Amino acid sequence: AKRAGRNTIRFFDAEVRAAVAARIVMEADLRTALSEEQFRLVYQPQVDAEQRVIGAEALVRWDHPLQGEISPGEFIPVAESSGLILGLGRLVLSTACYQLAKWEKDASMAHLTLAVNVSTRQFRSVGFVDDLLTIIQETGAPRSRLKLELTETVLIEDLEEAAETITTLSRLGICVSLDDFGTGYSSLAYLKLLPLSQLKIDQSFVRDVLEDPAAAAIARSVVGLGKSLEVEVIAEGVETTAQLEFLSGIGCRLYQGYLFGRPTEVEALERLAGRLQGA
Ligand code: C2E
Ligand code: CA
Ligand code: CA
Ligand code: CA
Repeated sequence: AKRAGRNTIRFFDAEVRAAVAARIVMEADLRTALSEEQFRLVYQPQVDAEQRVIGAEALVRWDHPLQGEISPGEFIPVAESSGLILGLGRLVLSTACYQLAKWEKDASMAHLTLAVNVSTRQFRSVGFVDDLLTIIQETGAPRSRLKLELTETVLIEDLEEAAETITTLSRLGICVSLDDFGTGYSSLAYLKLLPLSQLKIDQSFVRDVLEDPAAAAIARSVVGLGKSLEVEVIAEGVETTAQLEFLSGIGCRLYQGYLFGRPTEVEALERLAGRLQGA
């Protein structure tokens, strides 16, 4: 038994070593990727009740020279733990703001909003708001059409600090959306203290909304919460018309998901926005 135990430990140890090694390699690759411009943004449409494109969410993509496209679900956590998220986050924000500024100059695109994911570590870093303002100034992006997507972790880690930053952003006219809403463990009481502009119903609830009464109840209560707080509510991960009908039935008016469009190059998003706008 003793030997088996030792073998188990040795086996576990080898697995951990492999995982640590893979992480170190990815961290090094991320560092190179930042300096060699291997990142790009794709844009997923967000639509209103009439299915007009009202904006998009910017999602980062990494084209690894050897491994091909690596999912942000894999590399964002590594970027966060290594601190590289600060550089990557700044790159994402400036690319997105540059795009917003371009849309601002095009009459057929000037109405579009752009949502950008901001990781908790980035949001809480010293100088985040100042850096953002510099980027906005340098690109000439319209502040009121920029939306920062934060997750509840931001609020759980330090509510007071988060409230201060969100208030500052709101005074500057920058919108804040709470992403993956309903998946965190934060109390709802804080919500009325925060000048949020949007709650985003997490895609896990949207996915199960027709089969799972608990998911349906959560979706319904987020919509209710939005109404009473006068905060916009958007559902993400909408894939079927049945889900859309359910969401519309409970009073959700904004949607994002494969049903309306996958994340795409900016040109495709612009075609979609132009076409649907005129329709
Ligand atoms: P998220 O912010 O919750 O983004 C939504 C994810 O769901 C995206 O995955 C999107 O492609 C996917 N999605 C959209 N519609 C559907 C649908 O109808 N069905 C399904 N099954 N999935 C859908 P993606 O692009 O792989 O991003 C994964 C996560 O990585 C994001 O989740 C976000 O947390 C993070 N991420 C992506 N881009 C950035 C970024 O620029 N900065 C930061 N900090 N995080 C990012
Ligand atoms: Ca998001
Ligand atoms: Ca989300
Ligand atoms: Ca998510």
